[in-house]
Amino acid sequence: MNTSLDTLPRLAVLATGGTIAGQAGDASRTAGYKAGVVGVDKLLEAVPALGSVARIHAEQIASIDSKDMTPALWTTLSRRIDALLAQDDIDGVVVTHGTDTLEETAYLLHLTVKSAKPVVLTAAMRPSSALSADGPLNLLNALTVAASRQAAGQGVLIAFNNLIHSAREVTKTSTYAVDAFRSPEAGALGFVQDGRVDFQRTVVRPHTLASEFTVPQDWPMVEIVASYAGVSRVPVDALVGAGVKGIVLAGTGNGSMSSTLAQAFADAIGRGVAVVRSSRVGSGHVMRNGAAPDDALGTVSAGTLNPYKARVLLQLALARGVSDAPGLQRIFETY
Ligand code: ASP
Repeated sequence: MNTSLDTLPRLAVLATGGTIAGQAGDASRTAGYKAGVVGVDKLLEAVPALGSVARIHAEQIASIDSKDMTPALWTTLSRRIDALLAQDDIDGVVVTHGTDTLEETAYLLHLTVKSAKPVVLTAAMRPSSALSADGPLNLLNALTVAASRQAAGQGVLIAFNNLIHSAREVTKTSTYAVDAFRSPEAGALGFVQDGRVDFQRTVVRPHTLASEFTVPQDWPMVEIVASYAGVSRVPVDALVGAGVKGIVLAGTGNGSMSSTLAQAFADAIGRGVAVVRSSRVGSGHVMRNGAAPDDALGTVSAGTLNPYKARVLLQLALARGVSDAPGLQRIFETY
């Protein structure tokens, strides 16, 4: 690690809220707190060791619980990151975020940021006021990863609980545990511990500079519908009536759906709605023409993307003007 202060990397820390900036009245509480209330300056002050990792420029982009993240805020965040990374005096960006929608924001940035400089997201499962809060070490590790040469060109990364994940693969897998984030199909990219960054593998699919997507100003309406025992077609029909442009199926098993939903989706497709099949299972992939006949139905398979990430990709594809099933299938097989 670099020790001379004026040669340390220059990193921007963009805070958006979340539990990492959460506060409870009682240190023994790890639930029932308010997320997104502690400002970025206080978060940084709590970790004096950050000063020996990087020179920091901090910005408060938002102060929200990430359950309230919006596409409009994604547009602001992605553009701000691009603007900062275009500056010669910024070597990388760290984003602090809530855990609830972290995987969606991370994948959105992975596909829209136009820079090879490191972008690392981090978060916390316990509020900043808690005994054994996990935020300070996650923040230190995120800056350590963003300051490392190996992180460049790897797309958007997540530093969480000593692991480094790719934005494409990572997902929240626990409602309370400090090791809440996993990459179920591909595994983590590497680890970060005590100042050491160790990548074990790299990202294969295109992202950032190689991605065809730019962040939209206007976001197409895309919603998610699950299949389950006894599901009715009411949600699909209501969404079509509301003018939805795309629907992602959180299907059973390998992206299958009840006969009732299959008919509702066929009708929706007939009215110009794009339908993507993903799975509610949590790991594994959805095969084209596997558990449902995509060719006959006009549907698209999401591969290994979970429903929430498939929604992000479908929104970007539709915003780019791609809405036919073959064009969308190419996109889902590429990204
Ligand atoms: N509700 C919080 C959020 O996503 C949860 C967290 O950050 O852990 O903002």
